[in-house]
Amino acid sequence: MSNFADLNLVEPVLRAVLEQGYEKATPIQTQAIPALIEGRDLLGVAQTGTGKTAAFALPLLHNLSKVNVKAKSKKPRALILAPTRELAVQISNSIKTYGNHLHFRTGIVFGGTSIRPQIQNLTKGVHILVATPGRLLDLMRQGHVELDEIETFILDEADRMLDMGFIDDIKLVAKEMPKEHQTVMFSATMPKSLKGLIATLLNDPVRIEVSIAASTSKNIKQQVLFVQKNKKMDLLSDLLADEAKKRVLVFTRTKVNADKVIKFLIQNDIRAAVIHGDKIQKIRERALKNFSEGKIRVLVATDVAARGIDVDDITHVINFELPNEPDSYVHRIGRTGRAGASGVAISLCDLEERNYLRSIERVIKQDVPVNEDHEYHCEKTANAKGSGGKSSKFSRKPRRKKSGSGSFGSGNKGAKWSSNSSGKPVNKNRPFKGRKKRARDKAA
Ligand code: AMP
Repeated sequence: MSNFADLNLVEPVLRAVLEQGYEKATPIQTQAIPALIEGRDLLGVAQTGTGKTAAFALPLLHNLSKVNVKAKSKKPRALILAPTRELAVQISNSIKTYGNHLHFRTGIVFGGTSIRPQIQNLTKGVHILVATPGRLLDLMRQGHVELDEIETFILDEADRMLDMGFIDDIKLVAKEMPKEHQTVMFSATMPKSLKGLIATLLNDPVRIEVSIAASTSKNIKQQVLFVQKNKKMDLLSDLLADEAKKRVLVFTRTKVNADKVIKFLIQNDIRAAVIHGDKIQKIRERALKNFSEGKIRVLVATDVAARGIDVDDITHVINFELPNEPDSYVHRIGRTGRAGASGVAISLCDLEERNYLRSIERVIKQDVPVNEDHEYHCEKTANAKGSGGKSSKFSRKPRRKKSGSGSFGSGNKGAKWSSNSSGKPVNKNRPFKGRKKRARDKAA
C-alpha cells in the first residue's frame, strides 16, 4: 500500500483524502490512480469494501481540475453510471466529500422520484453526473442532457447492470459520447457475458483485480450455528433477544424469505425493517435512514439490496441463510467491523447449506468457529459431510437453555485491504435472472 502523497494527486484532492483520515491507499487505489491520471481506460474487478469508489473518484477529480471551466447547461464532463439509486447516492456523496475543496457541481439522476428537480439541475449545469441508466436515457430522450462533451465515463458494478438488463441502455448511452474519452469499468465479478461490453467500450484498458474474498477483517468475529431449517426463526428470535446486539443486519437469500423474516420479527415486537428489490424507493430510503439513525435495531436485506447499504456501526451481521456464493459471504460480513470497530458475524446453517459453508471456508481459507451454545443446536447438521475438511469447532461449551453472547475468538487471518489475484470470480444464480425487464423498471 502506498501513501496518498506519493500518488501525485492535486493538493485539494489530497487534502480531502487526508481529512477523511485515510492513511494509505488501498491496493486498488494504488494501482488505479496513476493509470487513470495518465488517461488510460481501466477495467477493475473489485467489490465494495476495497476502496474502489475513491479509486475512480480521486483521479476523476484530479483530471477535471486540470481544466477550470464553469459547468455548461446540459453538458456534463463526466458521467458515472450505477445500477441502483442507493449506489448512485453513495457515489455522489463520495464525489462531494473528495471534491470538497474543488468547485465542481455534481448532479444525480435516478428513477422513482420526481424528474423536475433533476431537469432543473441539469439545465443549470453539472460537471459530474451520477445516474442510473433508465432515468438517464429518459432525460437524454427529452433533450435535458447531452453527452457530447463527456471526458470520462465510469460504469460501476457492471456485472449487476448486466443482471438488471441494462446492457442495451448502456450501449445507447455510450453511443452519444465523443470518440475521445476515457472509460472506466468496475465490476465485482467478471462473467463471460460482460466480455462483449468490455470489447465495445474499453480501449486497451489497464486491468486490475483485487479482492477481499480471500481474507476477512480481523475485526470481525465469525461463528456458525447449526440448526434445523424450521427452527431458524426461533433461533433468530433468541439471538435478537440479546439487546447488546444494537444494530443488526440480517441477510436472506431471497426476497420471499426476507418478507417472512420481517413479518416474524414484527410479530415478535422487534423494531425492524426490510429492504429488497421489490420495495419502492421511499420505503427503502426510510428503512435505511431509520436503521442508520438507530430508530430500528434490525434491518433485513437480500444481497442485492444490501449492496447499497453504507451504514457504520453495524454491530452484528446475521446470515439467516448462507449465501450460495462465497464472495457474498465476505461482502455480507464486511458490513460490520468497519473503520476499526469490532463486529460479529453469525451464520445460521441448516443441512442443505453445509455445502455453501464448505465453499465459504475454502475461499476465506479458514474454518468458521462453531457455536453450539444455543437451544437449537443440530448435531445432525454439525456432523454432516458437507463441510468436507476438519471440524471447525471453536468454543464448545455446555449447552444452555438460552443463547448468550458467548466468547468467540476471531481465528481470522488477513487484512481487509489485501490484494488477491487468485480469487476467481463466480457468477452463478444471478438474482434477477428471468426478471430483467421488471428489475430494470424498478431500479431505473
Ligand atoms: P468502497 O469500496 O469504495 O465502497 O469503500 C469502502 C469504504 O472504505 C468506504 O467507507 C470508504 O470511505 C473507505 N475507504 C476508501 N479508501 C480508503 C482508504 N484508503 N483508507 C481507509 N478507508 C478507505
